[in-house]
Amino acid sequence: MMAGSHVALGAAAWLAAAPLFAQPAVAPLPLAVAALGALMPDIDHPSSWVGKRCRPFSLLLTRLLGHRGATHSLLAAAACFWLLLRPELPLTLSAPFVVGYLSHLGADLLTPGGLRLAWPLKGTWSLPLCRTGSAFEPLLVAIILSWAWSGADGMERMKAGLRELGVCELPFQTPGLCSPGPAGARLAAVARP
Ligand SMILES: [Zn+2]
Repeated sequence: MMAGSHVALGAAAWLAAAPLFAQPAVAPLPLAVAALGALMPDIDHPSSWVGKRCRPFSLLLTRLLGHRGATHSLLAAAACFWLLLRPELPLTLSAPFVVGYLSHLGADLLTPGGLRLAWPLKGTWSLPLCRTGSAFEPLLVAIILSWAWSGADGMERMKAGLRELGVCELPFQTPGLCSPGPAGARLAAVARP
């Protein structure tokens, strides 16, 4: 998928997963880290957003491992879980990074190119719902975003996060946003220490 789609899906995945880690759903830093994590697997492609920014390393990875190789495999997913278990890494950073990273693998799985999950073994897995860069890609992203936000109190989480950011302190307020429902109030309470 395109970089913009990965950023959107990484952020959506974090909105859905943040309560599992007792983290605020909407906060600039974890959302940015989730977006970065969602772009990171494509470091193995020198023309990708992250590959262009670390081109020598990206070129080396492409030559050694190929695109959608190790960085898109179950090995990478296992490394993500290892990162989560490192006590020296703050969960406030490792959790959104890992969620964003895994969202990238899930998104690439939906393209015809699929993933070599068992890398270095051959064999590709895919659920080919849309071609990278096709007109259907933004539509699929929109469907996944609305599913992530509407499922499991997702909208209430987003509203609670926006309230945490102080949106309701502004002189102009939206009643639907600034009057929390039961789920929003609960999640806002969890987010506050
Ligand atoms: Zn990828």
